[in-house]
Amino acid sequence: MYRTHNNGQLRAADINKEVTLAGWVQKTRDKGFMVWVDLRDRYGITQLIFDEERTSKEVIEKAAKLGREFVIQVKGTVIERESKNPNMPTGDVEILVSELTILNQSETPPFTIEDETDGGEDLRMKYRYLDIRRKPVRENLIFRSKVAMAVRNYLSKEEFIEVETPYLIKSTPEGARDFVVPSRMNEGQFYALPQSPQTFKQLLMVGGMDKYFQIVKCFRDEDLRADRQPEFTQIDCEMAFVEQEDILNAFEGLTKHLLKEINGVEISEFPRMTYDEAMAKYGNDKPDIRFGMEFGELNTVAQHKDFGVFNQAELVVGIAVPGGNNFTRKEIDNLIDWLKRPQIGALGMVYVRCNEDGSYKSSVDKFYTEEDLAKWAEATGAKAGDLICVLSGAKNKARTQLSALRMHLAEQLGLRKNNEFAPLWVVDFPLLEWDEETNRYHAMHHPFTSPKPGQLELLATNPGEVKANAYDLVLNGNEIGGGSIRIHDKKTQALMFDYLGFTPEEAKAQFGFLMDAFQYGAPPHGGIAFGLDRLVAILGGQETIRDFIAFPKNNAGRDVMIDAPAPIDSKQLEELHLKVEIKS
Ligand code: ASP
Repeated sequence: MYRTHNNGQLRAADINKEVTLAGWVQKTRDKGFMVWVDLRDRYGITQLIFDEERTSKEVIEKAAKLGREFVIQVKGTVIERESKNPNMPTGDVEILVSELTILNQSETPPFTIEDETDGGEDLRMKYRYLDIRRKPVRENLIFRSKVAMAVRNYLSKEEFIEVETPYLIKSTPEGARDFVVPSRMNEGQFYALPQSPQTFKQLLMVGGMDKYFQIVKCFRDEDLRADRQPEFTQIDCEMAFVEQEDILNAFEGLTKHLLKEINGVEISEFPRMTYDEAMAKYGNDKPDIRFGMEFGELNTVAQHKDFGVFNQAELVVGIAVPGGNNFTRKEIDNLIDWLKRPQIGALGMVYVRCNEDGSYKSSVDKFYTEEDLAKWAEATGAKAGDLICVLSGAKNKARTQLSALRMHLAEQLGLRKNNEFAPLWVVDFPLLEWDEETNRYHAMHHPFTSPKPGQLELLATNPGEVKANAYDLVLNGNEIGGGSIRIHDKKTQALMFDYLGFTPEEAKAQFGFLMDAFQYGAPPHGGIAFGLDRLVAILGGQETIRDFIAFPKNNAGRDVMIDAPAPIDSKQLEELHLKVEIKS
């Protein structure tokens, strides 16, 4: 037996017990006549003591030579510590060691394995297995496991069945590039890794599984924006015989359960907001509603004066920044510079100071009276002491820019508190979105999403206007889940592919199996998928998903620990009937 207890377990009540412990040497303190060792494992740290008077010379000499991260086993007696450490759960006791076995030696680790380490990100990723020994990383992984378990418990209780779906499949259109895998047995042919199990979960509904879920890896070959991973985990779900309302209720239940179970937070409000409303009020389809600063549209009160910039704009829109009248001129200039950076691309910003005495002072005083400005304040909900920030231009652009400013200011003002949670549903998304690059419409969610009842005909005349039975679950300004009610008859699905520019042959080649299945009694169905990595990070009060993934990839999509991706040898290529030609 390697151990009788773990290193987080022993308390004052265990004093005088004979125990055997095992773990890693976190640190040693050698005073010659006495040696202390902090012994660490996943559960905690226990202090060992070796002393001249009570430990044999041989053992104490061995202890003095222990290096950091040596793996050891000790036998000894639990004794009361002379100087107790109230910050450690095991801080009342220590182990007076009688026997010491070195189970394995260790090179000096490349960074310190402490809560605060001296290792930079790259180094820690290269030696991720050492990083995982550190408490913050370890705790994040344990936290993730706890969330996954709570998800499984809840969904199982609700009679969802976890079904595994294959990884070697063919393309699923989730809007990214596929990772492909060459087939040795089928020369010149390739599998695609699933961007999601979308078509399989729909087939499970045709198969009568009724309620499906899976905690599953998905693969998308996208240019890695900050904090995205090429492989990521979804909580993937599908239900049969449901309408949108049923899905929203079911997963509102899951979200509330997780917030209660994991964070101890009771959610009473779970608003629903249409996509159009979210765009108008927050300029964003994943609004952070923990703080106000809702948009006020100012066209009626700011146009038709002598200010040409506003007169020419499709939209004039502002927000009230709480307490913003305190900003210095320099701080406001910095905000304007921030907005003008190419990433945001605003041409400028008009602002109004709402003074404590009820008067207003704006950057466009030449064109507007205090009476005019009072109307701006009313439209944006500005109070004395606030600052009104106003942008103008093409509608979508102005909204996107003001949304970025809203989030930036909220961050600066400390309004995005990571222990406050405000979930909401955004519903009625457009079915299609215009793609500037290819000059055509694409499915905003995916091609299996059904249009709102009665809107199918609109597709021919006004495709951009058609709304979908699609919804997103938003938490603290992050989209953590998204799904839709699906098309479940062959004719509509074929029509949809047609509108999306697939020829009947292409549609058949790619999705014939699904349309075939629809001929055999497909029930009405719909579903949702949550991004588990992001969900765990938010529940954990953090923003970086990488911190909650055991072996993440870096921004270039590389695993620097195992050094992947990597070339394969010529024999393997030959078996795969492939020849590599690098075109750079
Ligand atoms: N497959 C979709 C996605 O990955 C989710 C869904 O529609 O259920 O976003």
